[in-house]
Amino acid sequence: MSSRAIALVISGCLLAACAGATPQDAALAFSHTADPARPFRGPIRPDLPLARGYNDAARALAYADDNPLIRWAYRVWCETGYRSPEDAGAGQEVDELIDPAQDLVSPQGFFHSRFARTPMPSGGARFLDNAWYFGADGLGVIVVRTPDGLLMVDTMTTPEEFEQVVLSEMPAAGLNPADIRYVFLGHMHADHTGGANVVQRLAPEAKVVMGAPDAAIVDQAREALRNGETPPPGATVRWRSRPTDAAEAAALHQTRLRSVPNRIDMRIEPEPGQTTGSARIRIGPSTEVVAVLNPGHTPGQMSVIIPVQHQGETRQLLVLSGNDNPDEAAQYARSMDYLRSVAAQVGADTLINTHGYQSAMFYHLRRLQADPSASNPFAMGRSGVDRFLGVFAECQRATHQRLEDGTWLAF
Ligand SMILES: [Zn+2]
Repeated sequence: MSSRAIALVISGCLLAACAGATPQDAALAFSHTADPARPFRGPIRPDLPLARGYNDAARALAYADDNPLIRWAYRVWCETGYRSPEDAGAGQEVDELIDPAQDLVSPQGFFHSRFARTPMPSGGARFLDNAWYFGADGLGVIVVRTPDGLLMVDTMTTPEEFEQVVLSEMPAAGLNPADIRYVFLGHMHADHTGGANVVQRLAPEAKVVMGAPDAAIVDQAREALRNGETPPPGATVRWRSRPTDAAEAAALHQTRLRSVPNRIDMRIEPEPGQTTGSARIRIGPSTEVVAVLNPGHTPGQMSVIIPVQHQGETRQLLVLSGNDNPDEAAQYARSMDYLRSVAAQVGADTLINTHGYQSAMFYHLRRLQADPSASNPFAMGRSGVDRFLGVFAECQRATHQRLEDGTWLAF
């Protein structure tokens, strides 16, 4: 493998640029050199009344208690628009983090992605009685041990990365990868789908579940790669820069072929005439999960609600996959309204995202790993999950309105 291959984007969805981004954008997202040509994005003028109303609604939801995950969501999605220090060069100030160990957001609201690559402690982070987060601070997978086998959400970027940071760490947590029964791919971006083929090799009975619109994009990517054609953006592994010679191009092609899912067994379809939908999936005699199609980050983004145990009691864990997408903020808001209603019906009372940088979840995961009796912000209660999703929906609505009003500049 060439040295350039090492620079594979292993957690490429950290910035808004990941949605529909070009490889060059992805490379920029991880460079720490300001690019003067890149325009400022985010707030430039005070809100007009409608956007202010959405913002204030989100703020009221966020500050109804002191849950740090919900407050982070408000700060980033509503107040700052997910600006990155890499946007520097057009007049805004780039400031430093308050505390890199706890929070990737600076006083001015800049998001600092470069601290998000640290691997999780050995054996992953157990954040509930029977649920773990494996991977790195910025990107990971969720594993839930049920009486009917293991359930997994997301699979990292490549088979190699998946084996290195997930499979090799599972035995230390008492988990056997051969026991995986279902793999839920939260969305089609390459940093979530790369290990699915490995699971299907180790656990041939395991079923791979995905939102139907994203599964169709994966189908296109697989077909294009097998025909030696250019795959659609987003669904295949990116490198930081374009291959410079034929050998590098061939290596990238092989990595993409290994990483694109060979098979999607179950597709979550929208309801007739809608963009959203959901399905109850019977895992076995004692386990049922709900998969929810909630497009926004991608056309087929999916969340999953899984029964879990926490301090000996049954709870419902909502697993999110993906960050925002200003270009589709209006759709995203409607999807979050839908997800909010499904989550309430199912009784979701616990929440996590496979991108552990969101809400600085990595910090809370590490804290719980060190002291399982510490307060657990993931177990935020039904009201907490409802408010978290409400914050996200209102902030997406505010983003859409601000872009319409011209009070924020495009991302
Ligand atoms: Zn993504």
